[in-house]
Amino acid sequence: MSIYSRFRAAAACLAAAGLACTPQPASAPSPIVAAVTPLDKTEQSIASAVDPRNAEGLALLERLVNINSGTMNFAGVREVGGILRAELDKLGFETRWVDGAAFGRAGHLIAERTGTGPRLLLIGHLDTVFEPSNHFQRWEKLTDSTVRGPGVIDMKGGDVIMLQAFKALAAAGVLDKMSITAVFSGDEESAGQPQGLARADLVAAAKKSQYAIGFEDGSGDPHTAVISRRGAGSWTLTSTGTPAHSSQIFRSDIGDGAIFESARVLQEFRTQLSTQQYLTFNPGFAIGGTDVTSDSSQSGGQALGKTNVVAKEMIVKGDMRTLSPEQLASTKTTMQAIVSRSLPHTASSITFEDGYPPLAPTDGNRRLLSIYDGVSRALGYGSVVAVDPMRAGAADVSFAAPYIPSAMDAVGLAGWDDHTDKETADIRMFGPLTKRAAIFLYRLSRTPPK
Ligand SMILES: [Zn+2]
Repeated sequence: MSIYSRFRAAAACLAAAGLACTPQPASAPSPIVAAVTPLDKTEQSIASAVDPRNAEGLALLERLVNINSGTMNFAGVREVGGILRAELDKLGFETRWVDGAAFGRAGHLIAERTGTGPRLLLIGHLDTVFEPSNHFQRWEKLTDSTVRGPGVIDMKGGDVIMLQAFKALAAAGVLDKMSITAVFSGDEESAGQPQGLARADLVAAAKKSQYAIGFEDGSGDPHTAVISRRGAGSWTLTSTGTPAHSSQIFRSDIGDGAIFESARVLQEFRTQLSTQQYLTFNPGFAIGGTDVTSDSSQSGGQALGKTNVVAKEMIVKGDMRTLSPEQLASTKTTMQAIVSRSLPHTASSITFEDGYPPLAPTDGNRRLLSIYDGVSRALGYGSVVAVDPMRAGAADVSFAAPYIPSAMDAVGLAGWDDHTDKETADIRMFGPLTKRAAIFLYRLSRTPPK
C-alpha cells in the first residue's frame, strides 16, 4: 500500500470528529506514551475558535495558491509574502521583509511578538517548485474534500494553518502572552547562495528561540511528524598520477596512475562505510584521463585520455547523507584517512560541501513529539508517531536544528503528491489540523525548556 493510500484512510478517520484511529505501524518508531492531559477551558475555547474561521482560511489559501510563487519568480514570492504580512500585522505581530538581493532570491518574511513564555520559532515558506513556465498554476477543487494546486500542501497550506492557529489563539485571548518568531523563507525549494547568507535570519531566530516547529506537510500522513531527518552534502575526490607509457604502469618510479588511485579510494569507502545505518554516499559522476576539466555545476566536464597512457588525473563527485552531526564528522574523518593513504606515485584529496545539516533525533525533539501526540489524543484524533528518517525530505527546520535543542516538523496541511502536478490536499483536514497546531503552540508556550 502506498504511503498516500494509507494517508487517505488515516485522514478519513482523523476528520471524523472524536474518532481515534490506530496509527500506522509501518517502520516508524513507537511514540512516547504519556497520559493524555484533557483540554482545559482555554484550550477548549481555542479549539472552538477554529471552525468558524475555516471558510475564510480556505479562501485565503485559494488566493495564495493562485499566485505563482516559484522560487525564481521574485514578484510572486513577494506578493504571497505581502498578503501574509498584512494578516500578521492585523494580529499585532511586528513584521519585516528581508531583501534577498544579497543571496539572489526574493527574500524572507519575518514576524515577531514578545510575551512571557519561551520563544517559539515557527517555520514556513512562500515559494513553490512551480515556476511560471510550469503548466500547473491553479487551485482546482476535485471533490468536496480534495483540492489540487501548486503549493497547496507544500506549503501554503501550512502557512495558512499557522495563521489560522494564531487567529484562534488571539480569539481565546492568549496570543498576546506568547513569544513567537515566524520565519517564512522565500527560497526553501532552492536556497540562495551563499547559503550562509540565505539562512542567516533563520539561524539568528533559532539562536534566540527555545522550540522550533516546521509547518511543512511532512510524509503526508497526519499520524506522523518529523523529529529527525538526514542531512545532505556533497564531496569531490581528486586523484593525480604520473603520466607515462602504459607499458610501464606499476614500475617503482611510475606507480599506479590516477584512475587506479580513485578506484582504491572508492572501494575503501564502500567496504568501510556502506553498512553504517542511516549513512549513504553515492559517487554520481567520474571523469579521468590525461587532460581533465570539470565544470562547477557538478554535472559536466571533459576528459581526454588514451588507453596506452597512465592516467594523470581523475575527478569523482558524489553526495552524502547522515543522520547526525556526529555521523557526518566521523564519516568525513574516515574518508579523509582513506584518501590520505595513496598508491605509489599518486595522490588524492577530498573536499566537502555541506548542504542541509542533519536534524538529529534529540531528546528535546522527542519531547516535542510527545506534547504534540498528547494534544492529538486529547482532541480525539489518535496518536502521532515519528516518521522514519529515511522517508523525511529536506526542509528549512534542519538549518535551525544545530542551534536549538527541540525541533519538529510536519505540523502543516497533509496531503499527497507534493512537488508534482498532482499535489493535493484533503481539506477536511484543515480544521482538525489547525486545532491541533493551535493547542500545541499554546501548550508549548507554557512548557519551560529543559
Ligand atoms: Zn516545503
